[in-house]
Amino acid sequence: MKNKYIPLSKPFFGKEEKAAVAKAMDSGWVTLGPKTFEFEESFKKYVAAKYAVGVSSATAGLHLAMIVANIKKGDEIIAPTFTFAATINPALHLGAKPVLVDIKKDTFNIDTDLIEKKITKKTRAIVPVHYAGQTVNMDQVMSLARKYKLLVIEDAAHALGSKYKNKSAGSIGDMTVFSFHPIKNITTGDGGMVTTNNKSFDELMRLYRLHGMNKEAWKRLSKTGNWYYEITVPGYKYNMTDIAASIGIEQLKKLKIFNKKRKVLKDLYSKEFKEIPEITVPFVHKDSEHAWNLYSILLDIESLKISRNDFIEELKKYNIGSSVYFMPLHLHPYYKKILGYKKGDFPNAEWVYERILSIPLYPAMSTSDVLYVARTIKSIIKKYKKN
Ligand SMILES: *Cc1c(COP(=O)(O)O)cnc(C)c1O
Repeated sequence: MKNKYIPLSKPFFGKEEKAAVAKAMDSGWVTLGPKTFEFEESFKKYVAAKYAVGVSSATAGLHLAMIVANIKKGDEIIAPTFTFAATINPALHLGAKPVLVDIKKDTFNIDTDLIEKKITKKTRAIVPVHYAGQTVNMDQVMSLARKYKLLVIEDAAHALGSKYKNKSAGSIGDMTVFSFHPIKNITTGDGGMVTTNNKSFDELMRLYRLHGMNKEAWKRLSKTGNWYYEITVPGYKYNMTDIAASIGIEQLKKLKIFNKKRKVLKDLYSKEFKEIPEITVPFVHKDSEHAWNLYSILLDIESLKISRNDFIEELKKYNIGSSVYFMPLHLHPYYKKILGYKKGDFPNAEWVYERILSIPLYPAMSTSDVLYVARTIKSIIKKYKKN
């Protein structure tokens, strides 16, 4: 039994991030300004996109992307049911209808073979989600989008550092949204980034992220600036801050090391679980370079006398955090009510939901912590095995 709690995830900050925050504070300018632009520059280089727009969260980024995609009342977007609410809530805010699609049982990603029959005259965009950092079949998504003249807005909240056929997530769809929430591959406290190769999307998102002002404050308020601005669209307050960007610049430098460490640790888990028939370890598709934001196993609940939820409670007794990513959207009361979905509509997502368990994985985790978690899981399985 470990004395310390092993959480599902934990951000890692070094002295570089702390020094960068202090420097931003001392600079006299802490909100959207030069540091955000610097972070945007290094971010777009990293994912090989032409433009990157720093925002306050991926949720804000998804909202901006859908606004500049001109998604409006009566339109439809296509998204997987196996995702976080933030993937579809922005569409609802715009009066559009999210049309959900089932997932594949191996990758937990949207089943791209099921998308075409969900496309109607009202469909405007496909919003694929790269679950846990494993990329969606983007060839199929992009070819459907071209055929039906739809936009592709990727939810890459888990996928910073992921690649699809050697192309970085963030360089494929029309717009790609990343998250810097503390559970993601890098963090700025909270924050997000939208990448695109489309100049007008970039310009519009910059406008909408800060009230719709045609001149950003740090340019107006600098010594050489001028106070005058005009409102050209009804914008939002979705900008990144320079404090957050200062953290992000340093975190991005460490991303390769972070993701490499995640991979080493997940290999250790998968090795430990190799001989355990009650556990299915994550499958990795050959076209995907996985960023391992989450390590999610499937429990063979038919051969166990314990439910997945009780398994989580049992792990807590051993000071181990774990969680469920995700409860499918169509099972949440609100979406059931307004979108008319019911249990049984997406059998694969429901099957996965009953069995899935995300267990601790983060760069600062030690190999002995991984072994402790793996061995505890194996001992619980042994204890609750049927006959
Ligand atoms: C975390 C997450 C988001 C939201 O990210 P925020 O930066 O917290 O807004 C969106 N989609 C998915 C799939 C996520 O996991």
